[in-house]
Amino acid sequence: MDIICPHCKKCTRTENNPFRPFCSERCKLIDLGTWAEEGYSVPVPPDSVDEEDLDVDKRI
Ligand SMILES: [Zn+2]
Repeated sequence: MDIICPHCKKCTRTENNPFRPFCSERCKLIDLGTWAEEGYSVPVPPDSVDEEDLDVDKRI
């Protein structure tokens, strides 16, 4: 089965791939590390949060 690596967006395969859904160990480690360090679990993109904060500052 062909899949798209969530990190580098390249086509890869699930067969004989212990790192699926990633294409390689490198992509898996980088992506998991990014989740842990930058908090991808936050649903609002950082840019949007910054804009909201600026609006609040102007009102005050
Ligand atoms: Zn990849």
